[in-house]
Amino acid sequence: MTDAPKLTEDLQRLLATMPDPTANAQVTALESELADRLGVRHAIAVSSGTAALHTALVALGIGPGDEVLVPALTVIMSVAPVIHVGARPVFVDCTPDGTDVDYTDLTAKLTPAVKAVLPVHLWGRTGELPRLRRWADEHGLPVVEDACQAQGSHTGDRPAGTGSTIGCFSMKDGKVLWCGEGGYLLTDHDRYAAAARTYRSHGLPPPPPGYRPRVAHNYRLAEPLALIARANLARFDELLARRQQQAALLRDLLTGASGVQPVDAPGHRWNGYSFLAEISVPQPRAFCEHLAGLGVPNSVGTFRLVPADRRPELASFAASPCGNAAAVIDRTLAVILTDHDDDHRIAGYAHTITREVRAWCPRD
Ligand SMILES: *Cc1c(COP(=O)(O)O)cnc(C)c1O
Repeated sequence: MTDAPKLTEDLQRLLATMPDPTANAQVTALESELADRLGVRHAIAVSSGTAALHTALVALGIGPGDEVLVPALTVIMSVAPVIHVGARPVFVDCTPDGTDVDYTDLTAKLTPAVKAVLPVHLWGRTGELPRLRRWADEHGLPVVEDACQAQGSHTGDRPAGTGSTIGCFSMKDGKVLWCGEGGYLLTDHDRYAAAARTYRSHGLPPPPPGYRPRVAHNYRLAEPLALIARANLARFDELLARRQQQAALLRDLLTGASGVQPVDAPGHRWNGYSFLAEISVPQPRAFCEHLAGLGVPNSVGTFRLVPADRRPELASFAASPCGNAAAVIDRTLAVILTDHDDDHRIAGYAHTITREVRAWCPRD
């Protein structure tokens, strides 16, 4: 639980100092706490994860005529920023088990117009990031990680979103580290950090030398939200442990249930962002919607997740269908977890899933 009395007191104290158009003490403190904790040179707080990705692409100078490699196994928020900078998303398929990018497809889609690769750690699973960074290095490409769902996941001994060119995060309500709405970028590159800071707030502070002046944005994070983010960052270990415990409990309760096979994230320390299971039932998407209707929130049933290359608004960018991504999404039950879900609610999810799988499957 948040230390509510202390947070209330801190918020009251902050509100008493407002309005103050030049205030940024909370944002500045949050940035240095994030940078310290994650072991990077720069953290830049922004107003959302979408804003973080948009700002990262701008900082790298990506724009019209450029292509960016993005997984098909992702949500619209990873792709929209590519389009907002005027570049073209090129969808890359995943491995059949959905835990990494398909390197054959990745290499096949490399053209001289490709200027970045943007891996997305959907459901908190990072895949083998060192391999992706080596691949990108060989081709002289920056890596922008969409780590919005991967706060607390690690590959090797590195936290997700560190060790690539820029890592992007969201603090929307429901992410592991949340503050309502918000986001941040992490980078070790001074130049990209300076470019991100200037883009975040309509050119102030002024851009680094040699950086093309451009019309920017208001992507600032509000001070009260930064204060909430700091309170949650202070209890991040607890938030992460809670999420992992929830995913593990659901896995234990569903192990052995027919038609539901819990899956893990092989090869790295996983934050347990969502509980994941492979379901073998007829019409799995309809089944996920049915579960959502019965109070088991999940990616397909609640948020209508489809591969990015199948979204109607992205149809003009979809070249060849990414079949693995579609198959993975269709057979994955990804249960959405939050800080509020106590063991009783988790047990209720397991009970509903077990009962409904049995009822949904034709008897033999
Ligand atoms: C939440 C999320 C985003 C976008 O974050 P917002 O703060 O909602 O803009 C981007 N990518 C992924 C994978 C996300 O889960």
